[in-house]
Amino acid sequence: MTLVRPPSSVDVAVIGAGAAGIAAARRLARSDLSVVVLEARDRIGGRAHTLLREGHALDLGCGWLHSADENPLAQMVEPEGLTIDRTPPPWESQAFDHEMTSAEQAEFGAAFAAFEGRVAEAAARGEEGPASRLFEPDCRWNPRIDAISGALNGARFAEVSIRDYDAYRDTGVNWRVIEGYGRLVERLGARLPVATHCAVSRIDRSGPVLRLETAKGAVEARAVIFTLPTDLIAAGVVRFDPPLPDLMEAAASLPLGLASKLHMTVTGAEDFPKDSQLWGRADTAETGGYHLRPFGRPMIEAWFGGDIARQLEAEGEAAFFAFAADELAHLLGSSFRKRIAPAAASMWGADPWSRGAYSHALPGKAGDRARLKAPVENRLFTAGEATSEVFYGTAHGAWLEGGRAAREALAALGLDPGPAPGDDEA
Ligand SMILES: Cc1cc2nc3c(=O)[nH]c(=O)nc-3n(C[C@H](O)[C@H](O)[C@H](O)COP(=O)(O)OP(=O)(O)OC[C@H]3O[C@@H](n4cnc5c(N)ncnc54)[C@H](O)[C@@H]3O)c2cc1C
Repeated sequence: MTLVRPPSSVDVAVIGAGAAGIAAARRLARSDLSVVVLEARDRIGGRAHTLLREGHALDLGCGWLHSADENPLAQMVEPEGLTIDRTPPPWESQAFDHEMTSAEQAEFGAAFAAFEGRVAEAAARGEEGPASRLFEPDCRWNPRIDAISGALNGARFAEVSIRDYDAYRDTGVNWRVIEGYGRLVERLGARLPVATHCAVSRIDRSGPVLRLETAKGAVEARAVIFTLPTDLIAAGVVRFDPPLPDLMEAAASLPLGLASKLHMTVTGAEDFPKDSQLWGRADTAETGGYHLRPFGRPMIEAWFGGDIARQLEAEGEAAFFAFAADELAHLLGSSFRKRIAPAAASMWGADPWSRGAYSHALPGKAGDRARLKAPVENRLFTAGEATSEVFYGTAHGAWLEGGRAAREALAALGLDPGPAPGDDEA
C-alpha cells in the first residue's frame, strides 16, 4: 500500500523498504502500534530486485535462497504463489573443462578448501587480520581464490577479516525462485504502509520523540528502525543530531563490496548443458563467472565481483557486455559474439541508494557487526544484512535482522516482543 505522504506522527518509523525494513514492518504491523516505512526509491525491495525481460524474471540483486533449509524466506515462496527451483548451483564446476582440466578443477577445489581450513583454524585461535594472510605463498591458485572472494565478498581477501569470514554460516543448500527473489520480497512488502520517494535526510534526537526530516516533510516517531546500506550510513546520508560517531564508524568498518550481474540472451542455447557454469580465466581475479542456461532458459547470467566489477561500472553499463563477449569468445570461439545480446545489467555501485552490493568486515573489524546493531537510547534500532553476524551479505540475514530490530522496538515500547528468530509468520 503506497502512501502519497507519510503521517506526521507514528509510533515506529522504519527507514528503508528492503528485506530488513519489510521484515521489521511486517512484525510491527501485527501489533497495535502505528507504523510507516519511509523509502527513498520509487519501489520497494532494495537490493532484492527482479526485472521482467525477454519474458523471464531476472534478478539484478539477490537470486539464491542461500542456506535454504534454514532460510525463513524459503518458507514463504509457495504461500506467496511463487515457485521454488531446487536445482543445485553449478558454481563448483567448469562446463567443457575449458581453461581448467578436470584435474586442475579438483586441484583448485582442494586449494580453496585448504585455505578455508586455515582461516577456520586461525579464527579458532582468536587471530584476526586480512584473510589473504592465510594464502599459501606463491600458490598458483591465489588469484582464483581472490576471484571467488570477489563473488562472496565483493572484494579481495586482503580486505576481508579472518574472523568475520569464518563466522559466515552456509548450510550448502541453495534454491531459487522462478519468478524472482526480488519479486518475493516485493510481494512480502506489498500490504505495508510505505511512502516511496521519501528519502530521510536527518534525525533530530534531541527531544522526547525522534524527529525525521524526509523528502515529503517531517515525521515524528517514538522509535526508529534504521536499515540503510552501510556505505550510506558511513557517508552520513542521514545526519544525526546529536551525531552518532560510533554508528558511523562501525558502518565504515563494514563497507559494501561490489558484485554486478549481466543477463544476456543466447541463441542456440541447447549447445550448453542446463544450469552449467563457465569461469572466464583461471589465472586472475579480474574475470567473470558465467551461469549458462539458468533455469534452462536461453540466457547467460554473468557475474563480476570486486575490482573488475568496479572497473566495468566506472566505464558504464555497456562495458559489462563488451568484457563478457571477449571472455566468452576466448572460451567458445569468436563466432560466439554474434550469438549473445545484453538483456539487463546491474549498477549497484553507482546507485545512490545502495552504493555497493553487500558488506564485508575489514581486517580487525569482525566485532563491528555487533557494534552497528547496538540500540541507541533504546529507541533507534539498526538492522540490515550488515548487522547479521552469521548470514551477512544475504537477503535472509537482512530479513532475520529486521525481525530482531522489530522485537527490540516492541520491547522498548512496552509490548510483548513475541517469539525469537525465524518466527516471522510470513
Ligand atoms: C548483485 C547481488 C547479488 C546478490 N545475491 C544474493 C543472493 O543470491 N542471495 C542472497 O541472499 N543475497 C544476495 N545479495 C544480497 C542481498 O540482496 C542483500 O543482502 C539484501 O537484499 C539487503 O537487504 P537490506 O534490507 O539490508 O538492504 P537494502 O535492500 O539495500 O534496503 C535498504 C533500503 O533503504 C533505502 N534507503 C537508502 N537510503 C535511504 C534514505 N536516506 N531514506 C529512505 N530510504 C533509504 C534503499 O532504497 C533500500 O530500499 C545480492 C546482492 C547483490 C547486489
